[in-house]
Amino acid sequence: MVFALTLSLALLVVATAAWLRAFLRHRAAAAHHQHELETLRTRHAAELQAQVERTIALFNRMVEGVIITQPTGAIRLANRAAGEIFGFTAPATGLSILEATRHHGVAAIAAKLDQSPEIIGHELTLESAKQPRYLQINALSLRTPSGERDGAIIVFHDLTALRRLESVRQEFVANVSHELRTPLSLIKSAAETLIDGAQHDPAACSRFLEIIDKHANRLSLLIDDLLLLSSLDSGRLQLKLRPVPLRAAVQEVVDELQSKAAAKNSALENKVDASLAVQADSHRLHQILINLMDNAIKYGREGGHTSVRAAVLSNGKIELAVQDDGPGLPPEAKARVFERFYRVDKARSRDQGGTGLGLAIVKHVVQAHGGEVRVESTPNAGSTFFVSLPPAAAE
Ligand code: ADP
Repeated sequence: MVFALTLSLALLVVATAAWLRAFLRHRAAAAHHQHELETLRTRHAAELQAQVERTIALFNRMVEGVIITQPTGAIRLANRAAGEIFGFTAPATGLSILEATRHHGVAAIAAKLDQSPEIIGHELTLESAKQPRYLQINALSLRTPSGERDGAIIVFHDLTALRRLESVRQEFVANVSHELRTPLSLIKSAAETLIDGAQHDPAACSRFLEIIDKHANRLSLLIDDLLLLSSLDSGRLQLKLRPVPLRAAVQEVVDELQSKAAAKNSALENKVDASLAVQADSHRLHQILINLMDNAIKYGREGGHTSVRAAVLSNGKIELAVQDDGPGLPPEAKARVFERFYRVDKARSRDQGGTGLGLAIVKHVVQAHGGEVRVESTPNAGSTFFVSLPPAAAE
């Protein structure tokens, strides 16, 4: 009897122990499961947060301006580019399109989305105090999965730079046509005069032949300059860089232009230190020097003086300065002389045989060498044109 009691007690203890073990195991498993779930949830939340941050970063780095609206028309999100286009820096969330953009045309586009679900390629000009801004607008009204209206997304593509480029190109083509037509019509009328009888008068004949020769040369110079600019623009120009002693390069040009300077009673002075050398294409360097020194003589005063000097800049580049004591440049011309076909005095430049491309070529050739150009000038006190070039590399 005692044995039976002891046995049942023992069995009860064993069973309880087994149940307890199972219970504890289950609780541990549940706790582990809970912990895993929490870890997963935290990781998921972090991933979601990172994804949102990535999307916002992408949204703000987009070149296009983007505005997303709520069904009420108020702004839900606007990216940085939209702020730059319309001039708002603070977050535009909650504002109406008109409040944020201050443009009725843009507000009208947003309103139009009530009738048509999509607007593609709408063009708009924003007139501002500085210069007009050209925009192309694409917009889409959004729907929830159940088909209810959920605001809209409006994308602004800024076409201003493209338009500016187009107008520069058109202006360039118009300038080229004009520049080609002028000498061509002079050649044509001289040839016609010869055909009409001037060929039988020796004096008139040589005069008209000289006209033809002069303007054919001008045409040829213009075409050479245009081809050079085109190869500079397209990056096709191959520079043969090597160390070039600067004083000798300047002296070559001084000698070449000596008779032209003498005809105007003006003096050319080479003040470049013999120790200086640049890393350049010698043929192109010659062209830079010819263009700058020829201008100094051409536009300088009768009996004037032009000097060329060079100095080492703090960034290691060598800066060449061509200084004249001529009439100088009017203040508004300083920023424009390096533009194609810009001339202070058109008639004078053409009369001197200028193509209007000399300084544009200087600028592009210098930039192709990794250098820069600038000009300092005081009206009636002369001009100094500066070009910087890399120093000669050790061989
Ligand atoms: P151009 O063929 O007319 O000489 P450039 O591009 O060389 O063309 O020069 C552009 C214009 O800059 C010239 O037409 C002239 O009006 C002005 N210019 C250039 N160099 C000088 C200078 N040293 N002094 C005064 N004006 C200058």
